[in-house]
Amino acid sequence: MQWTAELPEQISSLRAASQYENSLLRYREAARLEAEKHWSVYREQVDAAGHVLRALLPASAHPCSVCTILNPLQADQLTDVVTTKESVIVVTSHLRTESCVHEMVHVCADPLLRDWMPRILEHADLLDATYEPMVRMRYTWDRSASSLANVFSETLVRVLTAWALYHRTREVLIQQIEATTREGFLYAAPVVERLNAIAEGQPMPEHWLQECLSACHDAVSTGGSVQSHR
Ligand SMILES: [Zn+2]
Repeated sequence: MQWTAELPEQISSLRAASQYENSLLRYREAARLEAEKHWSVYREQVDAAGHVLRALLPASAHPCSVCTILNPLQADQLTDVVTTKESVIVVTSHLRTESCVHEMVHVCADPLLRDWMPRILEHADLLDATYEPMVRMRYTWDRSASSLANVFSETLVRVLTAWALYHRTREVLIQQIEATTREGFLYAAPVVERLNAIAEGQPMPEHWLQECLSACHDAVSTGGSVQSHR
């Protein structure tokens, strides 16, 4: 949060600068250049990922539209999201497909995760294997139910994001899942393995969660996917 502490001083020096009157024009120019370079690929990829997600997750959870607002002054590593009943509004400094799809997945998977949560919370021991990296990344803070809920939700969202974007390019998908696992999301591999079992274009069936949780337990007990990426 260092940058927020420095923000008032930055704003003052910006206003004192002789070029201040041009700053709005520069701001608009920065947004225009970013859109000119990346908009068509970004839109195409986000649309394609939305199509995959619509088939996989409950239709009722999908927003009617996804709107992106370019803000060149936004801290580069942050993507802000505002959700309304009809749309998801993504505020970002650059057009990054992955960030946008990640936020779409959060919105689309949330109702399902809420329904699933009592069953997920029956598997509190799953937190043990992933506890340390998750504390480090601040996705968990203790061994409570809400910590497990957070870890499972974020793991599923990251896997679904990679799936929506790369499921047709197997090698890239595997690389993405390996990178996610190395970051500390130790259940990414068993979760994607269960997604593989769903026929293309079909929704996630009701029994999917149970199979997924079992695959996570198997990965811990056999030391397979979980151990190999530690
Ligand atoms: Zn997330």
